[in-house]
Amino acid sequence: MRVAVLKEDSCQPKKCNDECHAFCPPVRNGQECIILDDKTGKPHISESLCIGCGICVNKCPHDALIIEQLPSELETDMIHRYSMNGFRLFRLPTPSKESVVGILGPNGMGKSTAINALSGRIVPNLGDWMDKEADWDGVIESLPRGELRDFFVAVKAEKIRVALKPQNVDRLPKRVKGSVRDLLMKVDERNMFTEMTEKLGIDHLLDRTIQQLSGGELQRMAICATLLRDVDVYFFDEPSSYLDIHERMRIVGIIQELSTTKRVIVIEHDLAVLDVLCDLIHIVYGKKGAFGIFTPARSTRQAINTYLDGFLPEQNVRIRDKPIKFLNHSDRVAELGSQVVSWGGLGKTLGDFTLATGEGAVHRSEVVGVVGPNGTGKSTMIKVLAGEHEYDEGWVTSDASISYKPQHIDVDIDGSVQLWLDSEIGPRWRSGEFNVNVIRALGVDELLPKRVKKLSGGERQAVSIAICLGREADLYLLDEPSAHLDANARMEAAKAIRRTMEANEKSAFVIDHDVYFIDIVSDSLLVFEGEGGTYGKAEGPFKLQEGMNRFLQGVNVTFRRDHDSKRPRINKSASRKDREQRTSGDYYSFNH
Ligand code: ADP
Ligand code: SF4
Repeated sequence: MRVAVLKEDSCQPKKCNDECHAFCPPVRNGQECIILDDKTGKPHISESLCIGCGICVNKCPHDALIIEQLPSELETDMIHRYSMNGFRLFRLPTPSKESVVGILGPNGMGKSTAINALSGRIVPNLGDWMDKEADWDGVIESLPRGELRDFFVAVKAEKIRVALKPQNVDRLPKRVKGSVRDLLMKVDERNMFTEMTEKLGIDHLLDRTIQQLSGGELQRMAICATLLRDVDVYFFDEPSSYLDIHERMRIVGIIQELSTTKRVIVIEHDLAVLDVLCDLIHIVYGKKGAFGIFTPARSTRQAINTYLDGFLPEQNVRIRDKPIKFLNHSDRVAELGSQVVSWGGLGKTLGDFTLATGEGAVHRSEVVGVVGPNGTGKSTMIKVLAGEHEYDEGWVTSDASISYKPQHIDVDIDGSVQLWLDSEIGPRWRSGEFNVNVIRALGVDELLPKRVKKLSGGERQAVSIAICLGREADLYLLDEPSAHLDANARMEAAKAIRRTMEANEKSAFVIDHDVYFIDIVSDSLLVFEGEGGTYGKAEGPFKLQEGMNRFLQGVNVTFRRDHDSKRPRINKSASRKDREQRTSGDYYSFNH
């Protein structure tokens, strides 16, 4: 089966010479393989006449075309196709009774389309994009007997109600006005307002307006609003962004409890969270913006190991060139350079909040992971080190220049990504090591013509990381770079940060709550403890394992190692391993 997709955003007929049409061999032989639209000038590509030579893909100056050959057995599994050369989705995840079903894979591969189909908001056209009258009977007949088919029978009878926790909670303040209490009261169909707001730890925020909430608070409010609805299927799209590990673990417990009576589907890129949360996982793969294929559900452990390995044996498909590997950190040869900055006994009071630190230093080429609860002063401390904040007590040796990527990326550029890059870092992104190690590695090269306003959360994050790394500075501070990036992009971002620091002998602080990401990016760990908004204490940097042991002890979570992939896995609370590791203080085990 041939798939020809036109990326509408990239196609710019006014800025090309119709290369696709001019060079297409069937067109040159008089066949109407590509027809240029009378009005828009954009190509319509006939998949039946296309011979798959790929000439148009190479000739298009804006990389607007994708031509792929897919296995023909997929043909009968097409669920939806938006237009002649539009995105198409193959197969669906199954919302199973009394289970948390996870979806693992990049954004842009049809999970919103899948959610819209499962919730009855769109009637899937099974590939017949011209059929504007597709009905549920066709969908039901196309599916084999089983849970998914039964589910659609209920969708057809309008017996399925759904609730969705949207991905980008940072957009909520622009869309919703009023107090947290008003918003949550309105959706309290289960009569659980008091219980849920307490469980999510937002009961002290009820009189605030949505505009006054931090990222983590917005996330918990959005999760609460979803839980209060009385529906049949609950979708949580990236529930962990902006939450610290303690909060992530709390959400895991609440969602698992919900799944004892309801169907739950979760899209999550923090693999440690996905691992401990889900009963089953569907991997989704494909080509961004072109097509997405859901695989049948696998056990959680098997799905994540397969994903990291990068090869789907049942489908015989490689989804990544190389496996993602976890190193035993004692194997990592640390060659740290001279000190960039050192400090001791810092004290800083900001309003009702007080920060204190131990003694520490950061070296050239060192990446320091920064972990700890929200609101304990992580960004405040880094800004003190960079000389951006005064301090009340203690000492700091230098005021190194800093390049900062904030948690929330507010950008008001009415232009393309290319313009954004040029205006922030000049022409240096266009070539050299930076272009290979950062721009390409983060997939920013594919976003260049896209309007900044149209970027998804993950795309905006990738460009912001590139801009932060592209500035001249001594210290790089990245505040939650993993947010909205998919699991694969997180690993690429971790590598891009490491490579930039090693190549330029610079230092970075990376604040993040994704343990896999921290494990891959960090040489050492700065550990924060305390009470959010009241006080914070920073100790370290420690060697990674020592830092993790301290940090996880504070959160009360233990990790074992998967015996095949060597990835860290959260132990079930009070399981034998959990008890053993707690007793021995081995919270982040390399041996179990
Ligand atoms: P983290 O990065 O760990 O979330 P921050 O450094 O952002 O922590 O902030 C720690 C605490 O300091 C927060 O609870 C915040 O309310 C408070 N805070 C930060 N900046 C100011 C300020 N300029 N005035 C008053 N309080 C502040
Ligand atoms: Fe024409 Fe297909 Fe070749 Fe593109 S890939 S030039 S559409 S035959």
